[in-house]
Amino acid sequence: MVEKNLNYFEVKNHVTWDEYFILQAIMASFKSKDPATKVGCVFVDQNNHQLTMGYNGFVAGIDETKLPWGKDKSQPLEHQKYGYVVHSEANAILHSPTSLVNSRCYVTLFPCHECAKLLASSKVSEVIYISDKHNGTESNTISKKIFDLAGIKYRQLIPSQELIENMTKHFTASCE
Ligand SMILES: [Zn+2]
Repeated sequence: MVEKNLNYFEVKNHVTWDEYFILQAIMASFKSKDPATKVGCVFVDQNNHQLTMGYNGFVAGIDETKLPWGKDKSQPLEHQKYGYVVHSEANAILHSPTSLVNSRCYVTLFPCHECAKLLASSKVSEVIYISDKHNGTESNTISKKIFDLAGIKYRQLIPSQELIENMTKHFTASCE
C-alpha cells in the first residue's frame, strides 16, 4: 500500500537496460574515425554491468597517418582500409579485462562472419543489434549460421523515437 503522499508517484520515461546499452554502443561508434562506416559495441554481463567496449579502427599502435581510409576495391588491398581495420567486436574482445562467457553484445551493426567466429568462441549468449543492412549477403548468412549452431540468440533493437525525443529534451534542459 503506497502512502498518500505527493512524493510517491510513478516514474515515466524510464530507460530500459536494452535501450541504455544500445545507446552506449552508439556512443562507442562515435569514436570510430572511419568516414564511411562507424560501428560500436558494448558487452554486458548478467548483472547489467558493462565489461568491455569497442569500435572499428586501425590496428592499435601503428602510425595511422600512413594508412588509407578509402574503400575503393579497384585498388590493391594494401591501399584499402580493409587491409588494416579491426572491427568493433574484435577490438572489444581483444581489450576485455575479463571473460565474456554468457555476456550480451550490443552492437550498432549485425556482426560480420569473422566477428561471429570470435563472438561464438568467446561464448557470448546474445547479440542485440540496430542495423542488419548486409542481410542476405554471404558473410551475413554465415554469421547467422554460426550463431544458430552455437545457440547464440540475436535480435534487432532500434531506439524508439520517444527515447530520442526524451534524450533531446533532457540534453536541452541540461544545457540551460
Ligand atoms: Zn566484423
